Amino acid sequence: PAQRLAAVLAALNEEQREAVAYSASEPLLVIAGAGSGKTSTLAHRVASLIAKGADPQRILLLTFSRRAAQEMEKRAGQVVARVLGLRSEAPPALPWAGTFHGVGARLLREHAAQIGLDENFTIHDRGDAEDLMGLVRHDIGLSASTRRFPQKGTCLAIYSRCVNTREPLEDVLKHAFPWCAEWAAELKRLFSGYVEAKQQQNLLDYDDLLLCWAEMMSEPSLAELVSSRFDHVLVDEYQDTNRLQAAILIALKPDGCGVTVVGDDAQSIYSFRGATVRNILDFPGQFTKSARIVTLERNYRSTQPILDASNAVIAHASERHAKTLWTDKPSAGRPQLVLVPDEAQQATWVADRILAHREGGLALKSQAVLFRTSSHSAALELELARRNIPFVKYGGLKFLEAAHVKDLLAVLRFVQNPRGRMAGFRVLQFIPGIGPATSSRLLDAMAEAADPGAALRDFQPPRAASVEWQRFADIYCALRTPGLSWPADVELALRWYLPHLERLHDDAGLRRGDLEQLARLASVYASRESFLTELTLDPPSASSDRAGPPLLDEDYLVLSTIHSAKGQEWRSVHVLNVVDGCIPADVAQGAAELEEERRLLYVAMTRARDHLHLVVPQRFYVTQQAARGDRHVYAGRTRFIDAADAARFDHVTWPPPPERPVFVPPPAAAIDLRNRLRNAWK
Ligand code: ATP
Ligand code: MG
Repeated sequence: PAQRLAAVLAALNEEQREAVAYSASEPLLVIAGAGSGKTSTLAHRVASLIAKGADPQRILLLTFSRRAAQEMEKRAGQVVARVLGLRSEAPPALPWAGTFHGVGARLLREHAAQIGLDENFTIHDRGDAEDLMGLVRHDIGLSASTRRFPQKGTCLAIYSRCVNTREPLEDVLKHAFPWCAEWAAELKRLFSGYVEAKQQQNLLDYDDLLLCWAEMMSEPSLAELVSSRFDHVLVDEYQDTNRLQAAILIALKPDGCGVTVVGDDAQSIYSFRGATVRNILDFPGQFTKSARIVTLERNYRSTQPILDASNAVIAHASERHAKTLWTDKPSAGRPQLVLVPDEAQQATWVADRILAHREGGLALKSQAVLFRTSSHSAALELELARRNIPFVKYGGLKFLEAAHVKDLLAVLRFVQNPRGRMAGFRVLQFIPGIGPATSSRLLDAMAEAADPGAALRDFQPPRAASVEWQRFADIYCALRTPGLSWPADVELALRWYLPHLERLHDDAGLRRGDLEQLARLASVYASRESFLTELTLDPPSASSDRAGPPLLDEDYLVLSTIHSAKGQEWRSVHVLNVVDGCIPADVAQGAAELEEERRLLYVAMTRARDHLHLVVPQRFYVTQQAARGDRHVYAGRTRFIDAADAARFDHVTWPPPPERPVFVPPPAAAIDLRNRLRNAWK
């Protein structure tokens, strides 16, 4: 194996090899630009650790998405298989590869008893959390009396920012939400109520997964318990972690032994969620042992013209990002700046190019279309559907946001956690004759009972509800019976819900298809609890006409927000709406926000391997946050590509400007007029 390992590592460059082989007795930071092989170096490091005898169970690998974790597990697995000479045997899995949130959820459940948490907690996604915030706001009487009070979504964003940055509310308001500063006292009341409601109902929101984990790590005996489970902790995309995540990492390994993080300060694009690039810059000094820093400069992803254009965009950043990347990858021409009249024509042009690329041998799978906000792909989605080009959309409207899907999940959540009132109310509203007051009484009784199922069975509903009530009580108790094997639960819940679906929706047939898809998805998971957790943390995306992931053997195009495209690469990349007002967004205020917008464009451009097309529609709709409605503006190319940098692109105008008909004078003396007149009377 040692020889085979050396052979595998020979394919890496010297700096990458150093990072892979570096001793695990000191913290290691790999800081490098896009496409320089940070993620692959990390995968090789994991593989090499395993090849040298590390126990895969004791490796904690933290990535930005679950998809990225699975990809990394696969890549590391392939390298391990090569090094160990495994053929048919599956390479060792990495049971602890996932996101901070996913791993947090798992650790919290496993250690629930030690931290005074009920292990049946349910997790609220952002939508649920906003709704709960709205309910609490109503309960404490803020909505009626105070019309200008911030929306529930804004309230949650403020709360989340306080939690993730660990800054006091006043500071967060002052720096990030100045227009809400007058409400500090009311917000404090609201947040206390929100926390109280979560605790009563045994709910955790996304932020709680990190917060509770960090709190657990602040108690020395518990920290020891968790830390001792892992010998190695490796983190990808470290520039997009927040202060809580850094605190967790440091608490896991205070001396930094076994810690490896990789990242790129020029790609930090999540500060709106509390991520801070300081984490990566401060890393070297945060452990008791000093860190080794490795930098990589050679880019293996893109052609030189694409790199030149990307480097130029980031070179104007006000913060200095260390490196200029180079490559010796053969060039396939310069990137394109494409001027189109409007978004409809943009869709046509992009669809044309995608088909042309496919003709030229680029499968749809090796092409992607990136955009700022999910709604920006609407016109393109229509165009793709019209031309029968299959696509999958990431970072868009989630399958789980459909009402009927939420209904079915609420049944499972209510069974899992009888104290969760939002799921409870959602389910009980389907039973005719049970109004909010009755539901509330029932939920109170269930929350207090030692056996919630029995409390439900003993409850006396109003007479009108009795038949349907009985049917529900039977199913609920059956679902709570231990020993019912998963995913039979889903079938049972579905059996209860389908008559309601048919009663309430004209398009029940279509919706039923989604639910069957959900049931199929459920069969992949081991238990109700893992299904609900994973689904909330990493929801599947929906294409326009079909829910869930596409068939594996199908060729499809990827549509993605730039934020969700992090870490990935495609041979051809189209970026939509590269205009001022979109990138940078017209709501971006202040130097720091503008800089983040610049990095966003850099991330988008550096996803491309061979072909990069930036599309600039000259008429562009912007939706102002101040709720002034949609506006139609004449936009210009993004300010991040100035005249000098624009020279690095090929310029295309589409449709090509019509050629002006040129006046061609007839040849001199085309007719002999004088002679004709002379003869006219004859
Ligand atoms: P990002 O900043 O976008 O996350 P990254 O630094 O993580 O990028 P990778 O995704 O690991 O970069 O690698 C980019 C591409 O370069 C991948 O296709 C990878 O397989 C390839 N690559 C990395 N190192 C080498 C190498 N030594 N030889 C050949 N190809 C390499
Ligand atoms: Mg990467």
